[in-house]
Amino acid sequence: MSPVLVIGAGVHGLTCGVVLAEAGRDVLIRTAERPRETTSAVAGAMWGPARLKPPERVLYWATLSHAEFTGLARDENSGVHLASGRMAARFDLGDVVPPETKLIPDLRRCGEQDLPDGFVWGYRGTVPLIDMPRYLDHLLERFRAAGGEIRLSPVQSLADAAAESDVVVNCTGVGAHELVGDPGVHPLLGQHVVVRNPGIDEYFIELSDGGEFTSWMPHGDRLVLGGISLDHDWRRTPRPDISDGILRRAARLEPRLADVEVLEETVGLRPGRDSVRLCAEDYEGARIIHDYGHAGCGVGLSWGCAFEVADLIEDG
Ligand SMILES: Cc1cc2nc3c(=O)[nH]c(=O)nc-3n(C[C@H](O)[C@H](O)[C@H](O)COP(=O)(O)OP(=O)(O)OC[C@H]3O[C@@H](n4cnc5c(N)ncnc54)[C@H](O)[C@@H]3O)c2cc1C
Repeated sequence: MSPVLVIGAGVHGLTCGVVLAEAGRDVLIRTAERPRETTSAVAGAMWGPARLKPPERVLYWATLSHAEFTGLARDENSGVHLASGRMAARFDLGDVVPPETKLIPDLRRCGEQDLPDGFVWGYRGTVPLIDMPRYLDHLLERFRAAGGEIRLSPVQSLADAAAESDVVVNCTGVGAHELVGDPGVHPLLGQHVVVRNPGIDEYFIELSDGGEFTSWMPHGDRLVLGGISLDHDWRRTPRPDISDGILRRAARLEPRLADVEVLEETVGLRPGRDSVRLCAEDYEGARIIHDYGHAGCGVGLSWGCAFEVADLIEDG
């Protein structure tokens, strides 16, 4: 069997690397950035309902990923833990919830007293939360322990990749815009303010149709505050006005978040696309498996997608 070339060391590249290397494949990851420099490292991150297309595939990937993250939460070195919290909105979203929510064992509708001022709808439930910098370290360690190799070395073109290996897995996130020439891939810029945790152990996420919302995700001493989503914005430096807005909105909903110590401000580009692209393509004598375009839900779908990538390689 020829070695597999995986392009990208975000959560998708590394998870594919782990699945393939632990199945005994010879795997090389080439990446333009180190794992902790990727968009994946910026994510909050929670496993949660993913309103992405194609819906039946997304449900399948989310289901497999939920099982893996729940298992990983038993390993305290993985960076994954289970936490209770609320998903809430300032408008009524009704009683119809996404099918993935059936995986949340204790899901229940929030009463009025369990919602912040100004919110009229919400659900409470326990989900996996993933401390991304630590989790990416965990994946990297597992990948290397299984014999995988990682190289900081950008891939210039798919033709170069196809010349290097018979089997290529393309996990380039928003980088697929350039590498594949896929005009459908666009950045949905996100910014976080990481603060010293004043003692919060529940997550909160506001569901919103606009670009601004409020969220917090606890990871021990660190609390990751969001959020924002700016379409077609490629800038990757944190903006003070966005951070100010995130801190102000969070403090309005949770008094313990007034005057918190800011540890870090981070920016990532969610890979927006009309639908996730996970498919095999024959290209210049190689089999290329594309796995990108997971927008704001790439962490929560990562294991299911990686298992499907492995199946597509087997089927080839
Ligand atoms: C603020 C924010 C909050 C988020 N919160 C959540 C959340 O709570 N839950 C959730 O599930 N998701 C969340 N996401 C979304 C999630 O982060 C992304 O969907 C996911 O990280 C995409 O992973 P990826 O591996 O496809 O891409 P990336 O992490 O972007 O990795 C792409 C990799 O490809 C490499 N690359 C690109 N081009 C080339 C090239 N030509 N040659 C070599 N390497 C290349 C890059 O260097 C990088 O290593 C959030 C995102 C942001 C920004």
